[in-house]
Amino acid sequence: MKPVTFKVQNTNFAEEQEQYGTMPTLHMEGPSGTIVSCWELSEEEIAEVVRTGKMWLGLMCFGKPLTPSFLTINSDDFFQEAVSTCSSCGINNVNTLVNKVDAIVIDKECENCASISEEDLNE
Ligand SMILES: [Zn+2]
Repeated sequence: MKPVTFKVQNTNFAEEQEQYGTMPTLHMEGPSGTIVSCWELSEEEIAEVVRTGKMWLGLMCFGKPLTPSFLTINSDDFFQEAVSTCSSCGINNVNTLVNKVDAIVIDKECENCASISEEDLNE
């Protein structure tokens, strides 16, 4: 199983730490500070998950408290891309992100006029 890049990632962890390997992540703005990564299973691992129905999660805490953690097969549990309307120029911008963990919209810079504003979601 290895971490893989994904469309809305915005950070790479451990880029220069060979003992860990680079982990592409989405660091979501919001109170929880949730960091999302995407892991791809090999054919053998897929077969093992099908056989056992189980996965294992190990988190290195280095003596710090365990943070709330969960695994999911559905990225929508963490975030959703949405279309929002720029309140300055009125253009619909794609790639607005809804942080599902904190239930907030992460405003992106308008691709047209570069303003950052509170926007209404158009589902
Ligand atoms: Zn705009």
